[in-house]
Amino acid sequence: MIIVSACLAGINCNYKGQSKPCEKVIELIKEGKAIPVCPETLGGLSIPRAPAKQKGNKVFTNHGKDVTANFIRGAEEGLRIAKLADCKIAILKARSPSCDSDKGVFARLLKRNGIKVFSEEDLEDEKLYQKEIIEKKD
Ligand code: SF4
Repeated sequence: MIIVSACLAGINCNYKGQSKPCEKVIELIKEGKAIPVCPETLGGLSIPRAPAKQKGNKVFTNHGKDVTANFIRGAEEGLRIAKLADCKIAILKARSPSCDSDKGVFARLLKRNGIKVFSEEDLEDEKLYQKEIIEKKD
């Protein structure tokens, strides 16, 4: 089973109240192989909401409000869902302060818990998509 960023599934949960649909992610959900989660909304943030950025170990909105606690709570709730569904793989939105596969708060928590994290941009590499996602999605 695969955990995926909800905005990649076409759910309008990003800070603008929009989504970034990814056909490959939507297909995995239709097959019953992927579960969508949005860690920022799980952490209690609204839709729409102020854009946020990481500064060191903290996260601040563009108005300077510290939203680190929301990001951590959302990441923990997302991890809880990933564990319940026995997810070993994640496909998360690139360049999001929660979901970016290198720096995102949620992505890093998943990695620390043994879940392999890819971005939707990684899926453009057809070889990687076949080997890391299609062959392992069960
Ligand atoms: Fe998408 Fe993740 Fe941002 Fe939610 S937190 S809108 S799932 S990138």
